Amino acid sequence: MTQSESIISTEAAYTSGVYPKRQVAIVRGEGALLWDADGRVYIDCVGGQGAANLGHAHPAVVAAIREQAERLISCPEIFYNDQRAAYLAELAAALPFAARIFLCNSGAEAVEGAIKIARLKTGRTGIVAAVRGFHGRTMGALSATFEPKYREPFMPLVPDFTHVPYNNIAALDAAVTDRTAAVILEPVQGEGGVHPAAPGYLADVERICCERGALLIIDEVQTGFGRTGTLFAIEHHGIAPALLCLAKSIAGGLPMGAIAINAALGPLPPASHGTTFGGSPLVCAAARATLRVMRDEELPRQAAEKGAYALERLAALRLPRIRAVRGQGLLIGIELKERVQPFLVALMERGVLALPAGPNVLRLLPPLVITYEQIDAVIAAIAEVLA
Ligand code: PMP
Repeated sequence: MTQSESIISTEAAYTSGVYPKRQVAIVRGEGALLWDADGRVYIDCVGGQGAANLGHAHPAVVAAIREQAERLISCPEIFYNDQRAAYLAELAAALPFAARIFLCNSGAEAVEGAIKIARLKTGRTGIVAAVRGFHGRTMGALSATFEPKYREPFMPLVPDFTHVPYNNIAALDAAVTDRTAAVILEPVQGEGGVHPAAPGYLADVERICCERGALLIIDEVQTGFGRTGTLFAIEHHGIAPALLCLAKSIAGGLPMGAIAINAALGPLPPASHGTTFGGSPLVCAAARATLRVMRDEELPRQAAEKGAYALERLAALRLPRIRAVRGQGLLIGIELKERVQPFLVALMERGVLALPAGPNVLRLLPPLVITYEQIDAVIAAIAEVLA
């Protein structure tokens, strides 16, 4: 038995069963490269499903985690803490609309909290979400998620959620009423097939929310931290949401989420929400290092330039199996005329790890530090398997 086979058979025996697993055991990473247990190298276009924007084992994050782990790992928010205080101020400075921030541990938890805050602040219960939207798997976040196969086994979900077609302002206009607490949207629908918001759409949504007293929740769990070519995707749209959800790459790959709260909403009532691990010194130290690296290495600009390069080269392939190529920054979708699954396996055999986004879209979500040579190698492998 190889090392990989041994790891795979042990994990397969005990894993919950919910994940469609790939037959590879990853044990090490550096930049945009990953190694399996037998020493085989892969170019990573999964990017920790969005958690590895900085690249694997970034030295600044490693050092921050190591130093903070030796000082203090956990410290609940009932106490003040040096790392948390500094991070809250640094993140708020990067989000000019935000006056306050609730720290949590995942994307779904950020969405869940945002839904609660919207209900609390408006006294209403309606939530308008989008067809093909994805917001997580806990009961509230799942209620905002569109995909029927994720939702139907768990009915009834939280009441008063409706879904309108994305990028259709008339449909949204008709759905938002005086009972709507919030509209929740992604700036680029990631899991739902890589669909960027049309220019002007989110600004129109913001205006409608404002007119009717509903809050705009923007879910930047996948688009945040440089992915789309700006630090946050809302910068492309000039909007200031009531609530902004963050997670994935926020802390260099450690589990962390955040809800940035618009100044107009004021503070939250005491004891209205909470979470034990939220804002621990360890994740805050890693998140501070992440923001620093984002700026020092100009990762948003890198994502914009590399993304434009990759999109142009992919569009030039003109292969009969490809229906469309779209994306923003380094969040790229290649829509096929057939199911994507066999091509993901074929790419892995050629040393490229990639993601689906729905049944027929091949999604690339590489670390933003991926090199142009690595992008060329990925495109060559895609051209080969799709030929
Ligand atoms: N929102 C969006 C836009 C996402 O892409 C995801 C995860 N793919 C989530 C929420 C849920 O995040 P988590 O898996 O950390 O709960």
